[in-house]
Amino acid sequence: MAEAARKGAEQTWVYAFGGGTADGDASMKNLLGGKGANLAEMAKLGLPVPPGFTISTAVCVAYYQTGRAYPAGLEAEVNAALAALERQSGKGFGDPANPLLVSVRSGARASMPGMMDTVLNLGLNEAVAEGLARLAGDRFAYDSYRRFIQMYSNVVLGLGHDEFEHILDDYKEREGLDLDTDLNADNWKAVIVRYKAAVQKELGRPFPEDPREQLWGAISAVFNSWMSDRAIIYRKLNDIPEDWGTAVNVQAMVFGNLGETSATGVAFTRDPSNGQAIFYGEYLINAQGEDVVAGIRTPAPISRERAATLGSGDKPLEDAMPEVYKQLRDVAAKLEHHYKDMQDIEFTVEAGRLYMLQTRNGKRTAAAAVKIAVDMVREKLISEKEGLLRLDPSQLDQLLHPRIPSDDENKKAGGKPYDVIVKGLPASPGAAVGKVVFDSDEAFLLAGKGEDVILVRVETSPDDIKGMHAARAIVTARGGMTSHAAVVARGMGRPCVCGASDLKIDVARGEFSVRGRTFKKGDTVTIDGGTGRVMAGAIALIKPDLSGDFGELMSWADKVRRLKVRANAETPLDTRTAVEFGAEGIGLCRTEHMFFEEERIPAVRSMILSNDEKGRREALAKLLPMQRSDFEEIFRILEGRPATIRLLDPPLHEFLPHTDEDIANVAKASGINADELRRRAHDLHESNPMLGHRGCRLGITYPEIYEMQARAIFEAAVNVAKEGKLKPVPEVMIPLVATQRELAILKALVDETANTVFKETGVTVDYTVGTMIELPRAALQAGEIAHSAAFFSFGTNDLTQTTLGISRDDAGRFLQAYSEKGIYEKDPFVTLDQEGVGELVKIAAERGKRTRPGIKLGICGEHGGDPASVEFCHRAGLDYVSCSPYRVPIARLAAAQAALKDSAK
Ligand code: PEP
Ligand code: MG
Repeated sequence: MAEAARKGAEQTWVYAFGGGTADGDASMKNLLGGKGANLAEMAKLGLPVPPGFTISTAVCVAYYQTGRAYPAGLEAEVNAALAALERQSGKGFGDPANPLLVSVRSGARASMPGMMDTVLNLGLNEAVAEGLARLAGDRFAYDSYRRFIQMYSNVVLGLGHDEFEHILDDYKEREGLDLDTDLNADNWKAVIVRYKAAVQKELGRPFPEDPREQLWGAISAVFNSWMSDRAIIYRKLNDIPEDWGTAVNVQAMVFGNLGETSATGVAFTRDPSNGQAIFYGEYLINAQGEDVVAGIRTPAPISRERAATLGSGDKPLEDAMPEVYKQLRDVAAKLEHHYKDMQDIEFTVEAGRLYMLQTRNGKRTAAAAVKIAVDMVREKLISEKEGLLRLDPSQLDQLLHPRIPSDDENKKAGGKPYDVIVKGLPASPGAAVGKVVFDSDEAFLLAGKGEDVILVRVETSPDDIKGMHAARAIVTARGGMTSHAAVVARGMGRPCVCGASDLKIDVARGEFSVRGRTFKKGDTVTIDGGTGRVMAGAIALIKPDLSGDFGELMSWADKVRRLKVRANAETPLDTRTAVEFGAEGIGLCRTEHMFFEEERIPAVRSMILSNDEKGRREALAKLLPMQRSDFEEIFRILEGRPATIRLLDPPLHEFLPHTDEDIANVAKASGINADELRRRAHDLHESNPMLGHRGCRLGITYPEIYEMQARAIFEAAVNVAKEGKLKPVPEVMIPLVATQRELAILKALVDETANTVFKETGVTVDYTVGTMIELPRAALQAGEIAHSAAFFSFGTNDLTQTTLGISRDDAGRFLQAYSEKGIYEKDPFVTLDQEGVGELVKIAAERGKRTRPGIKLGICGEHGGDPASVEFCHRAGLDYVSCSPYRVPIARLAAAQAALKDSAK
């Protein structure tokens, strides 16, 4: 045991691995980063890992705490680790006779693909390159040296990548050379002279020759890259805290570019796009690792099986290097079994010998995540609980969205054959329709205006992530299944087609062309990330199937969760969707939506325009049968599941026309005088509608409105009950209550109406009356209000607005700045703000329960579909969450995870 053991209680900064042992292991991700921890674990498992050492994340944290200075003792530890590495590899760092070259790579706790910096081939200078040339051939040595100068200059010295590309292109043109492989050692030497001159010219100092200076330069560059703009954005998008820091891994180089018996590649132990248990991956003969990831050359598939699925004519690794392939498969199987999860592996073959460079739990699409979890439970590798905890509930969103009809389905439906513009690699599944955009900033801007955009790029780099996130789908002309675009799109759940190499993109002209056809910026296309097709025009997408593995997983979730899950729905279509997605009732039926329909709004308006109760009652009488039939239909679809129906909530002016043109049209259609209409709209004008004459305040001033709605609900329930098959469960909900008295008055009105209906019809139905808690005062008064309420439903949309003093519609103007400055970690309209709104929820739940121990508690704001908020609701002791129908499965899984985490405590 090296440093760690010897130093005892003192802080250790550096952890060695290799040669069958390691100072760390997989459990030390926080300190060693994912890559460092897994390299240590693989070394301990006896797998062929090139030796090296990890500089811990604690160094990164200390570095930023002290204004970018290294902690005392680090230098000595790095020197000792380097000396140990020299001994173990039998090579010398900077020794031309037998040179040790190293890679320097970042590795944070959470994987951040391509976001931070890497330097390869470090330790080369003129003398070392000469020495390497004697050992491994001069072309290889000088190719490596120029790669190193290029990468180091870019990553560490901060020179533009283009400058070097330009020098190389210029040189090739002058010498009449076409491909990089056409350059011999002397050509590379000449290029190196030019590269170094460029460095001298730009920086006014020479390229560093001293390998130790190079090493510290690279270590600092990796730590500095933790605070690069792209890393900061990525962390924001993925909720990775800044104070985690990154580790730095320094590892002996192995070379996949030593000739035809060398190779490098990436493999997944299962297919990360659909979860099938096939050995999946890509490799390149005679190449360095970055060539695969950067997507500069298009790699070949690893296994025959995979080659067959792709219809690829390229020779798989299985045929090119059968022995190595067999060993790799065994290692992959061992790793998957060891980690009990699908692994994403990087490997290099140096002169016929296999080396493992990395393993980690592989990123995957939602479909793959579900299939892998369910398969692994069936294989008895993991338990049902582990299977449930493996999934990211938000990721299920991908499965709950539409896809393109298959060719057969399309044919059956009599559709035209799809107009396929180009085919690339199926890099991330799902379908999307949108307008072509070539620039990431533009994609971001247009998406902000509500446009659906498809980002089309030659290839993507980490600078594109904002645009990729904003786009509905991504298409690239270059790169493989493990290119930046593919990996990031899968993580974000965006459909992606990669390596569509027939696309000729002309960004300057704002167009792309394929075999003589040209498409312009703004043209509509449809992307199918599952097959790699890009098609002209908009194709009608279809709903996904939620049976099979998905259904099985959901049934496990339902077994363990305590929270019930309902949906917010008011139309028959939404109610049906909600039930299909597993909703256990309606948690919020917003009745005002039923008033906006074309044939109803005239009656609504004449009710509003009436000068007296008699007029209002006449108009309401016309609405009654329509409301009643709405509720009847909903009760029938719900088949005995409860329905929380909220009485009218918005201020009345929302139902009136506002512009002169609208007023004239309505006046004409309704026969009401236009001036009268204008005057009434003016009277009803609210200076702050959110805080105005709405909710129970309408019920108190115009009780006949709530009376009609209550009558419609009870008559509907009675009618459906009379049919003899179903027992409707209406829960009447009063909105915007602030005091107990308001609720007491309106509850009496509802009860009286119920009794009247039951007497008239001779049929009685069980029902309850409760209220929304959506004002801070209501939350604080909950103990009193509970005397009149059988249930509380937290309306966290209004509660967030009224507690935080933020208008939801206007929040967009400043929330981003607020999150950047750390005032809000998350958008409070998505995730419950725990110190403000969440605290009120807890207070109200406690006070309500104290008064009425059996009170039913739920949430019906948008937060009901947000996994973190669902967990909060579980902990706060709520009975159910209610969310939009499409988020019901997400909430079911999140509720199951909350229960599992709770019971693990
Ligand atoms: C709420 O305020 O949280 C709520 C569900 O009601 P609405 O969004 O209709 O105001
Ligand atoms: Mg509300």
